[in-house]
Amino acid sequence: MARPLPAPLREVVDRLATLPGLGPKSALRIGLTLLRWPAERTRDLGQRIYALREELHLCERCGALAEARLCPICQDPARSDAELCVVAEWDGVLVMEEMGLFRGRYVVLGGLLAPLEGVGPQALDLSRLEAILQEGAVREVILALGATLEAEATATLVAQRLRQRFPEVRLSRLAQGIPLGVELKYVDPETLKQSLQYRQDL
Ligand SMILES: [Zn+2]
Repeated sequence: MARPLPAPLREVVDRLATLPGLGPKSALRIGLTLLRWPAERTRDLGQRIYALREELHLCERCGALAEARLCPICQDPARSDAELCVVAEWDGVLVMEEMGLFRGRYVVLGGLLAPLEGVGPQALDLSRLEAILQEGAVREVILALGATLEAEATATLVAQRLRQRFPEVRLSRLAQGIPLGVELKYVDPETLKQSLQYRQDL
């Protein structure tokens, strides 16, 4: 940054500039806004950012975000253990929950294969999924990974592994009503509802 800023401001601006969608100029604007705010408001924001990492963890069971050892869905006795929905990232859980039709449980893979970027099968962690299946309550695994190339590659791999180890579990995926190339989080709830209702066996 060409302009000499006081060090505490520069430290904040440099870090803000690394956020998605923010360049140096907007980072500076935000930095100056934080200084203009009443001190209490700026401190509050800082503390809330701090609390994000202090108070949120990955659910020990499904890998979604949780404030306790287990997330509310894993703790909910009213949810069905028989249906397990596999999503790529924890925000996939939010998308499915917003749709509101699914009453089973989730597991978060933590990423997708990206063959073009060299992210191969060894990078994909299926241990959570397999640990839950080993308990024996799941009757159906529903893959809700989106309709991108990465999602396809991942679905194929997951299907292969599960067929070998858990041949008795029904395996399905959201119907292809999802437009090709679209990540799960960009699918509107109505489309998602239909793709769950008309899910296809794998
Ligand atoms: Zn959980």
